[in-house]
Amino acid sequence: MRLILLGPPGAGKGTQAQRLTATHGLVQLSTGDMLRAAVKAGTATGLKAKAVMDRGELVSDEIVVGIIAERIDQPDCRKGFILDGFPRTTKQAEALDKMLAERKLKLDAVIEMKVNDDVLVERITGRFTCAKCGTGYHDTFKQPKTPGVCDVCGSKEFTRRADDKAETVVSRLKAYHQQTAPLLPYYEGRGILRQVDGMAEIDEVTQQIEAVLATL
Ligand code: AMP
Repeated sequence: MRLILLGPPGAGKGTQAQRLTATHGLVQLSTGDMLRAAVKAGTATGLKAKAVMDRGELVSDEIVVGIIAERIDQPDCRKGFILDGFPRTTKQAEALDKMLAERKLKLDAVIEMKVNDDVLVERITGRFTCAKCGTGYHDTFKQPKTPGVCDVCGSKEFTRRADDKAETVVSRLKAYHQQTAPLLPYYEGRGILRQVDGMAEIDEVTQQIEAVLATL
């Protein structure tokens, strides 16, 4: 199964993709995670991407398409994958179509996570992650059970994304509406666009996604 989770930053794409990874054995392909890893490792791609990401703008299509093209050929992607944060422009969607066609693979569904803009700034600026195992938390909605200690692995180290600041979030939302939202009619025209209510509780959103998957 090959899926795209589409929605604005903070819609919960990463959270839901992680759950699908665990329940369906699919691989999560997050271009944001891959770019952050490249920035951290100081690779040539990371050096090019860093300033753009810090401004909340989109990294060039060429870079992200290259990253994905390389990644989907890895053996772990054979069973299927969930694209989280890719494609984000029409050019990227067209490049993905070409990549899949060349490999005789098809996209099963594009799941739009619908969320109102006004909740996104609070959702994004409050989030933090365990530095060791990557479990996500939130200042308001999901604190660790013991303050300062990860529920899952017990680590006391947490990180916040450099681009989760309020001013950057505004640019990221603008990029979403201008460059990514046009993908909705693109996929609707193909009859593979499905919608879930990203404003619902995390478990409820998972159930809605499962209901979509059951129809495939
Ligand atoms: P994300 O983790 O998906 O919110 O992505 C974080 C940042 O990485 C974005 O604000 C962009 O600067 C960059 N990025 C991630 N995925 C893409 C993509 N598909 N196209 C362009 N830039 C991307």
